[in-house]
Amino acid sequence: MEITNLEQNISDIQKSIQLHCKNCGRDTADVALIAVSKTRSIPTILKAVDCGMLDLGENKAQEIRDKYNHFSTDVRWHMIGHLQTNKIKYIIDKVVLIHSVDSIKLAKAIDKEASKKQIIMPILIQLNLSHEDSKFGIDESRLYDMVTSIARLTHIKIEGLMTVAPYVVDSEENRPIFRKMKDISVDIASKNIDNVSMRMLSMGMSGDYGVAIEEGATMIRVGTSIFGKRDYS
Ligand SMILES: *Cc1c(COP(=O)(O)O)cnc(C)c1O
Repeated sequence: MEITNLEQNISDIQKSIQLHCKNCGRDTADVALIAVSKTRSIPTILKAVDCGMLDLGENKAQEIRDKYNHFSTDVRWHMIGHLQTNKIKYIIDKVVLIHSVDSIKLAKAIDKEASKKQIIMPILIQLNLSHEDSKFGIDESRLYDMVTSIARLTHIKIEGLMTVAPYVVDSEENRPIFRKMKDISVDIASKNIDNVSMRMLSMGMSGDYGVAIEEGATMIRVGTSIFGKRDYS
């Protein structure tokens, strides 16, 4: 099923981003909207790109590999899903950011592939602060040790944190999680670890991006509100 009101959806979200930024005195330029294009057809995604969606998020390495050549190099691909070490090679020279690093083993494997391509790969560390919905992401208690070890790798740069909050009906329920993310990022930043920046906070999805923005998100990942319900059949 092709979606017809893409342009309207995107414009509605942009207005909503403006409103939430205004509510908390933030600049809209500091919040990037990532259109989560997983499961969507190439013609549909091309339409979104035409509407200005240049940041695209995918959760499968193969999907990025297969879609990549259909798009201009203006498009910035984001890996937002669980990444297996044997699939890093599909995306290492295609993505601008890997949001979902949650182990030292994965970071080392990314570092190795990045070094082969002679690039430095920007990454985020994925935190699991809800301890229920998501199987992925690390516990807060392990963050500092993980950040300091990954920071020693020469072909990776830690740029911030990412989380997937639980699905909730009332987005206010996720506010404490987003606030916690911001607090943790400020805490890590204050330690001034070499090769570590906390300038990016990737949090907020279709159901709760407004609250995430108010709590400091610099990237929101929105799929359903742009493209409609996903069809996994
Ligand atoms: C699918 C997905 C999203 C988008 O979710 P929507 O509710 O459709 O906006 C965001 N982040 C991640 C990691 C996802 O896998």
